[in-house]
Amino acid sequence: MPVNLSAYLSLKKELHHRSATLVAVSKTKPIEDILELYHAGQRDFGENYVQELCEKQPQLPTDIRWHFIGHLQRNKVKYIAPFVHLIHGVDSLALLKEIDKQAKKNDRVIDCLLQVHIAKEETKFGFDATELSDMLPQLPNYPNARVTGLMGMASFTTNENLIRSEFHSLSQALQTAQTSQTFQTLSMGMSNDFRIALEEGSNLVRIGSLLFGARG
Ligand SMILES: *Cc1c(COP(=O)(O)O)cnc(C)c1O
Repeated sequence: MPVNLSAYLSLKKELHHRSATLVAVSKTKPIEDILELYHAGQRDFGENYVQELCEKQPQLPTDIRWHFIGHLQRNKVKYIAPFVHLIHGVDSLALLKEIDKQAKKNDRVIDCLLQVHIAKEETKFGFDATELSDMLPQLPNYPNARVTGLMGMASFTTNENLIRSEFHSLSQALQTAQTSQTFQTLSMGMSNDFRIALEEGSNLVRIGSLLFGARG
């Protein structure tokens, strides 16, 4: 399936109006597809699997900003720490500690988002409201893992009211948690629900299938 450049261009326009950033989710997609979008101007790409990301990264231009959007295991942080731009799915203090440690080793600061559990589904990773408020006072202890906001995924459903209320709760959580000017990224919205996410205050959407076609 070819890259949908016309969808890309209209999406860019729509996001520009709302000052939102597009992360093009390229998991399972080949290097050629990523390059096609790169040549159209895209620089932020998202991947879910450490091994896949580490295979692709050296084959692609160095000015790509790589977002890790999947569930990250602590023992794999070291592989992406030298180059990753933003880690979206930080869901435990232990993971944040490890990111801080590996960032120090690489003499850099790695930006991170705390993943918040907003969906009804049991299987989704992330902090609940209480865990989030327990986490916040500890963040200054890990200066090389700089938390710049929150990330969440809505329920996989056609019930738009449910999706909207879940995104709304994440937006509220950001307002409540906002500790500094650097804590303002709200990563929410995918191909099927990004418009609702934008209406609820998202400033970073993670979009795959709309741009690259369905994954096999
Ligand atoms: C795969 C994935 C996306 C992109 O999903 P699409 O429906 O293809 O847009 C966004 N966020 C996360 C966390 C993902 O795993």
